[in-house]
Amino acid sequence: MKTPGRTKIVATLGPSVRDVDTLEEMVRSGMDVARINASHATHEVISEEIEALREASRRARRVVGVILDLMGPKLRVGELPSGGLQLATGQEVVISATLQSGCGASCIPVEEEGFTSGLAAGDVVLLDDGALRLRVLESTRMGARCRVEVGGKLLSRKGLSAPGVDLGLPALTDKDLSDLELGLSLGIDWVAMSFVGSAADVRVLREELRRRDSATPIIAKIERRAAVERAEEIIAEADAVMVARGDLGVEMPLEEVPLLQKRIVETAARCGKPVIIATQMLQSMIEHPCPTRAEVSDVANAVLEGADAVMLSGETAVGGFPLEAVGTMRRIILNAETALPYERWLEERRRWIGRNRVEAVAYAACELALRLEARAMVTPTESGFTALQVSRFRPSQPILAPTPHETTARRMALYWGVMPRLEKMAGGVRSMFLSAEQAARAEGLAGAGDKVVITAGLKRPGEEGMPTTNTIHCLKLEG
Ligand code: PEP
Repeated sequence: MKTPGRTKIVATLGPSVRDVDTLEEMVRSGMDVARINASHATHEVISEEIEALREASRRARRVVGVILDLMGPKLRVGELPSGGLQLATGQEVVISATLQSGCGASCIPVEEEGFTSGLAAGDVVLLDDGALRLRVLESTRMGARCRVEVGGKLLSRKGLSAPGVDLGLPALTDKDLSDLELGLSLGIDWVAMSFVGSAADVRVLREELRRRDSATPIIAKIERRAAVERAEEIIAEADAVMVARGDLGVEMPLEEVPLLQKRIVETAARCGKPVIIATQMLQSMIEHPCPTRAEVSDVANAVLEGADAVMLSGETAVGGFPLEAVGTMRRIILNAETALPYERWLEERRRWIGRNRVEAVAYAACELALRLEARAMVTPTESGFTALQVSRFRPSQPILAPTPHETTARRMALYWGVMPRLEKMAGGVRSMFLSAEQAARAEGLAGAGDKVVITAGLKRPGEEGMPTTNTIHCLKLEG
């Protein structure tokens, strides 16, 4: 395994990376978490991909998490005549769910019944990720008459959106629920929710998970104007957040996306929630073995801003150079991380600690590690919460997180700086510290003379159940 960075790499699976051998290479090259995009995968493909990924992770002896990214209520153009429709700038078209396919050169069928009732004269409708633009002239439940402002060729099943308009779509579609059922049965580690508009949307998914006895954590994708406006409440409700710059750049003026990204990263950091920066990070590597200078800067900037993870989409899913893309990302991360302002971050983030004991212990452990110039931190954890809290403060030391639970280990694969390690937890105090020390040595993080800071949950005599983290231990390893 090549040296991993602290910032995690999420890579999207697809036709270019589906077989076990390639996936094993992806894991060895630095993929921490695999993303399966339910918009483009059948149930059969999802099952095969997860099975192949687990095998690859076993072979590479590296914990890898899986995100199932639900398609969400994305509107799509229906079936058009073969070859698509050529829309001329200035012409009038009608978009409607009631139209039949092949209704002529001025008709655009849309799959969702009644969505046009949410549109009003003057609204903008974007087709094919914003490549084509229509302006609504008048709209009823039956359809919307529009003028083409930016023409071009429109193909069947391309995306359609109306920036800033509430089309009254459900938070989760029937397809999402069926994909979710499958994902849960296959043991996915995270579920990503597309087109979130409010904290209430996240609660809808949380309730669906609860009804299925699942505590799978939720990643809220910020990709709508409504989500940008309610970013704080959404981030507070979700378990992690993704800056989904593809759709976000359709809904919002492109030039606003960099500052929105920065704001979302800061809000997520304040709330202690991991944040993923996604889309077109190394886009040119779909076709070329080397990225552009601008792409390299984009990845490095995300790292310097404090993102927990950076994501590859088409670069790995359908690109010609998936392994090179992961390797390139890892090298950019490692270089950028040499300039991270660890001490300043620790000082800044100290102000965000609430009254939670684990948060306070995690902060104190990071402060100790800094003052003592420790080589590593070890955070034994049941749920992953302690490791996440330590990760929040961005210590310069690697955070080794032993856990007895596979699910916890795989979820932690997304946490910045955390190295999940699957192992039985020692019972007593002494054996807990001893096994933490052994784990740090076994992972090559510390040797004779090095200091290690360990967090632990120690029981009072007679106390029942697992105690939360309440103790810090500093250790100098002997020869
Ligand atoms: C995005 O829009 O940037 C994104 C990550 O979502 P999707 O790939 O599902 O469009």
